[in-house]
Amino acid sequence: MKKIIEKLKQKHRFLVVSHTHPDGDAVGALLAMGLALKAMGKDVQLYNESVIPAVYRFLPSMAVIQQKVTPESTFDVAIVLDCGDIERVGTLAQTIGQMPLVINIDHHVTNTRFGHMQLIDVDACATSEIIFRLLKALPVQIDQTIATAIYTGILTDTGSFRFSNTNRSAFAICAEMIDNGVDAYAVAQRVYGTYSLGRIKLLNLALDSLEISSNGRLSMMTLTQRMLRETRTQAEDIDGIINYARRIQDVRVAALIHELCLNGGVSRGRRHFHVSLRSDGSVDVAAIAARFGGGGHAGASGFTIESTLTELKAQLMALADTFDGVCAQS
Ligand code: 5GP
Ligand code: MN
Repeated sequence: MKKIIEKLKQKHRFLVVSHTHPDGDAVGALLAMGLALKAMGKDVQLYNESVIPAVYRFLPSMAVIQQKVTPESTFDVAIVLDCGDIERVGTLAQTIGQMPLVINIDHHVTNTRFGHMQLIDVDACATSEIIFRLLKALPVQIDQTIATAIYTGILTDTGSFRFSNTNRSAFAICAEMIDNGVDAYAVAQRVYGTYSLGRIKLLNLALDSLEISSNGRLSMMTLTQRMLRETRTQAEDIDGIINYARRIQDVRVAALIHELCLNGGVSRGRRHFHVSLRSDGSVDVAAIAARFGGGGHAGASGFTIESTLTELKAQLMALADTFDGVCAQS
């Protein structure tokens, strides 16, 4: 941490980036880190490949996040946030990975330790918690804008203080952020309080797609591109739906299959899918996702796969029989 702080003080041109299809932590950490560096007088570009989901667009200053890296710009440092591996930043992964100094700041157990410097704390409830600690050591004021970003990152990554990563710091930091001007009710209303009608219809289709393994330990939901079209929703509207599958009594692992729209060049019924996994704490789903080339946390993970839907479902269902032998790391 000390060495990273030195670099943040010394260097001038920064690219700050987080993972594609960002969640609240990826947006919050990106904003907090980027705005803090700007406040220090640095030349900073905040970048995310994806459009920021509608529920996070209320965040003050979120308009500074760009979906493109200006081609002529050069950077001394790339700060990569909330990414278990460099590929998570998207199509610019190689370019960013080759920048003069790559700083990897994350809280995923499966982090590949990419980059020149790493600040990885798997006990942090969110990457936003690590950014908070960094900011405390930097000559910057955590104003209301930065505080709202950090608060939102922690609120969403802990599932509103309900997931197993909820720690003492989650409460302590959020309390401090409220002292710094965060309106907790306003954030909750923006993040959870208002759903489009399409999103509710999508939830209905997801609930309807529910399948349970014969031993009752695995639940699975499937969302196809067709369902997204029918309900006029987007990938970001899927966020949180998996929690309905994980809540079912006796279920140890919930899986949500989401058909991706990048299906060009894939033949004979094979398509691209993203699979989200959640566990009740008795199964390490980070290890399962890693076997499929993905990663995440012991309790929440994901991976992307090219397969037929039938094959994929069968593969996931087969996992249910193995749960007795798999123990959670945390
Ligand atoms: P979800 O898939 O539900 O969006 O994400 C759950 C967790 O798994 C998040 O912490 C996310 O960063 C991680 N995750 C999801 N997909 C991937 C993936 O393809 N690779 C890696 N390394 N992590 C993933
Ligand atoms: Mn996170």
